Amino acid sequence: MSSKLPSYDEAAALVAAYAGQLGRMRPSVERVEIGRAPGRILARPLCADRDQPPFARSTRDGFACRAQEASAHIPLAIAGATRAGEAPAGPLPPGSAWEIMTGAPVPPGADAVVMLEHVEIANGQVKLTPKRTAAVGENIVAQGAQARKGDELLPPGTAIASAQVALAAACGHAALEVFSRPRVAILTTGDEIVPVKSLPAPGQIRNSNGPMLAAMVVAAGGEPWILPTASDNARALDTALAQAREADMLLITGGVSAGKFDLVEPALARAGAGFHFTGVRIQPGKPLVFGEVQRHRNAASIAGVRSPIMPQTLPFFGLPGNPVSSAVTFLLFAAPVLAALAGSTEPGPRFALARLAAPADKHSKAALTRFLPAKCTFGADSQLPQVALVPWQGSGDLAAMARSNCFLVLPEETNHPEKGAIVRILLY
Ligand code: AMP
Ligand code: MG
Repeated sequence: MSSKLPSYDEAAALVAAYAGQLGRMRPSVERVEIGRAPGRILARPLCADRDQPPFARSTRDGFACRAQEASAHIPLAIAGATRAGEAPAGPLPPGSAWEIMTGAPVPPGADAVVMLEHVEIANGQVKLTPKRTAAVGENIVAQGAQARKGDELLPPGTAIASAQVALAAACGHAALEVFSRPRVAILTTGDEIVPVKSLPAPGQIRNSNGPMLAAMVVAAGGEPWILPTASDNARALDTALAQAREADMLLITGGVSAGKFDLVEPALARAGAGFHFTGVRIQPGKPLVFGEVQRHRNAASIAGVRSPIMPQTLPFFGLPGNPVSSAVTFLLFAAPVLAALAGSTEPGPRFALARLAAPADKHSKAALTRFLPAKCTFGADSQLPQVALVPWQGSGDLAAMARSNCFLVLPEETNHPEKGAIVRILLY
C-alpha cells in the first residue's frame, strides 16, 4: 500500500515545483525601517546610491606614496596628512609621501599605501624598510571597486539579515520595501487538546503544536494566525475550515491518520479540496496531506482580514498531530511553500553533510526516509560538523526534539550507519 505513496524525493520535487509557481505571484509591498527588516524579504532591488567605496580608500594606517618611489628606498618628504572623515586632499607631489589613516581618502597621484609598521621616519621624511617593496594598488580599495553608483546590489527575493541591513545603511536606506507577510492559519484538531493555560484533565494534552508552528511560521517569513482548536467532529471542522479560508496558507494538525476520528481529509474534501498527495514515504510524518482549496471569493473585502496575497487557491498542509511529525513535515514541505508565498527566492529546506559521531543503531524500514532528532556540533576546526542521534521515544517525544538542533536523514533502505559515516542532516 505505502509503496504507492510518493517517496520523499518525489514529494519534495512536487512541492518545489508548486512553490516555483507561487513564486511568480508577488505579495504586496510595505515599507519597514531597517531595524525591523531582519526576517523580511526584499521587494525591490537594493541599489548603490553612490560608488562603493565613494573614494579611493586606504585600508591601513601608513603613508600613501608612489609604489615605484617607495620601492627605491629613497627618503620621501611627508607632504601632508589625511584622517578618516576628512575630505580628499592632495595631490601628492613627486618624491613625497602622505600620512594617511585607515578609511581615509588616498590623495590623487598616490598608487599605494605602505603600512606604518613597514617604514622608518626621520626628519620629516619617511623611507620604506630595506627588505620591503611596495606594489601598485597595495592597501587601497579603488573608488567604485565594490559597486558603481546605480548598480543593483541585491535582487528582490533576498532574505534580510544583518549583512543586508548593513548594506542598506551604507547605501542611505533608513527603510526598505519588503513583501507583506503571508497570513498562515494554524488549525489544531483533537478532542484531547487543551490550551496551554488550562490544567489538562486525565486524558487531555496541552496544545504544543499551535505555539510551535506559530514560531516556525515566523521563522519561515509568515504571520501566524492561531485558530481555536477544533474537536474531532465534522461540524467543528467544517466551521473551522470556512474561517481558515481567509488566510494565505493553512496548516492543520492532527486527524490525518487512518483512525476512526481522523476526520480532516473528509472535511477538506467537503470543502472542495484538491489533493496533491495524501501520504509520503517518510517517518515520522507519513500521513501528511498536501492540497489546495478554493478561497472565499470575497475574502479580500472582509474587514480586518485583508489578505496581502490573494491567489485563487489556498494551499494547505494536513500535518500529523504528533509534535515531531508536525515539525518535520512543516520543515520539509510547508516551509518551502510558505517561503515562496513570502516572496523568498531561497525556499529551503536546508540540508548539510556531517560526520556521524557514534554508530546509529537505527535503520530505515524498507521504503521510508527517516528524519531522526540529532545534535550537530559545528566545530571551529576544519573537520566536518559532527552529528549524534538524540535518544528519543518516538514522534511524541518533544523533549528529545527540544534537545536537538537538526534531523539526521536516513534514506530508504539505510542500515545502521557506522561511526564516521558521512550523513545528511536537515537543519532548522
Ligand atoms: P493525530 O494525528 O490526531 O492522530 O494525533 C497524534 C498524536 O499527536 C496524539 O497523541 C495527539 O494527542 C497528539 N497531538 C495532536 N495534536 C496535538 C497538538 N496540537 N499538540 C500536542 N499534541 C498533539
Ligand atoms: Mg487526533
